[in-house]
Amino acid sequence: MSANREAPGSNRPPSHLFYQTRLRRPVVDRAEGIYLWDRDGRRMIDGSSGAMVVNIGHGNRAVLDAMRRQMERATFAYRLHFENEPAETLATRVVDYMPPGLDKVFFVSGGSEAVESCLKLARQWAVATGQAGRYKVISRFPSYHGSTLGALAVTGYAALTAPFAPMMHEMPKIPAPTAYLDRDGLSMEERGIRYADMLEAEIRRQGAETVLAFIMEPIGGASTGALVAPDSYYPRIREICDRYGIVLIYDEVMTGAGRTGRFLGADHWAPKPDLIALSKGFASGYCPLGAMVAPSRMVQPVLDAGGFQHGFTYAGNPLACAAGLAVIEEIERQSMVDNAAAMGALLKDELQALARRFPFIGDVRGKGLLLAAELVGDPETMAPLPSGLNAHARVVELAYERGLIIYSRRTRGGTEGDHFLVCPPMIVTREQVGEIVAVLADTLEALAAELRLPVNR
Ligand code: PLP
Repeated sequence: MSANREAPGSNRPPSHLFYQTRLRRPVVDRAEGIYLWDRDGRRMIDGSSGAMVVNIGHGNRAVLDAMRRQMERATFAYRLHFENEPAETLATRVVDYMPPGLDKVFFVSGGSEAVESCLKLARQWAVATGQAGRYKVISRFPSYHGSTLGALAVTGYAALTAPFAPMMHEMPKIPAPTAYLDRDGLSMEERGIRYADMLEAEIRRQGAETVLAFIMEPIGGASTGALVAPDSYYPRIREICDRYGIVLIYDEVMTGAGRTGRFLGADHWAPKPDLIALSKGFASGYCPLGAMVAPSRMVQPVLDAGGFQHGFTYAGNPLACAAGLAVIEEIERQSMVDNAAAMGALLKDELQALARRFPFIGDVRGKGLLLAAELVGDPETMAPLPSGLNAHARVVELAYERGLIIYSRRTRGGTEGDHFLVCPPMIVTREQVGEIVAVLADTLEALAAELRLPVNR
């Protein structure tokens, strides 16, 4: 059979692999620490930890050794046939990092699966406790919760959801707390309350007896560019969920495992969620792994009613759990959460300095090493750049040409707005932060020249 046709101008050989777009990249050869090398020996800085995944950095020997030891014992044992020690031990270690009461861990293989599990446990708990009329899950716009149809139904990112709208039961959305965009004379804390109260208004509009849950990223990920709500938002959301008996789900797929300078994003505020979804940095890309963490008070009624009607073949397998366990041990041994907080503060200062030099950076935000810069046409009004400039995609390409990997998306729901995320592994050093910032400065100079954007000299 003949090889398939490649993109015009591609320098890559024809391939039978189904790449998502026409864009082709070099073939990776090896990776270590915060760097990756391609087969021509070119070194790239992993300034986005892949897709905010490789929290502990590449090539960690302790994790590789733990995985090798487990592989030599058993790589797979199906969860309905055997229990396994890495899964048991990892669950115990995870619960130590969870808010009080969140004491049951359900393993999956990725973030979408973790979110689906939260939605389905919430629903089964409602059915088991005589609340079968509750099925709507309110979420925010913009947001990202995964690409399976259930997780997509609560995702607020038009470019990703629109093609599938007729196929799914799209769920109600409230605006994400983009208080930094508002020009209304209110304080940030007042705005936080205003955004949280939009949840109450939506619950009433939908009919409280039909609303099952509210899902949010405690600190936004790629869809908003590390959006942090005003502090007043979090307790008000908790209060509203309690008032109407609604399950509060924190999607910590990106924020979990130390990325924001605390083990959980939730750890930055006193109020706690009812369910937590974890993945990405949880096994740091060493194995596909995710988890739902739930309280016994929700799990027990479901088990009493016959069991959780949900699960995935690869879930809780010994190899993935051995990797996850070794990742947590390395996070602790190397004090990576503290380093994420310290290096994140330094990197944020540096990004703010870049914003003074490049006034088309309208906002720098995030916590720990989940940081983003938003590119705008007018920093006063925060009007976005013309969407046809594709600034978010260009900045990634210009950085890539200069040996730095960063991550970007549209800011305002997938149709306009531009931001890029800088999220290196949590082992990044002060010198490496300097190296990243130097390449970024050169990248932004090139972007300004290409798109005719202003620079302060
Ligand atoms: N939730 C959040 C907040 C995410 O950032 C992602 C992935 O980017 C997901 C869910 C989906 O995770 P996965 O791609 O592993 O299915």
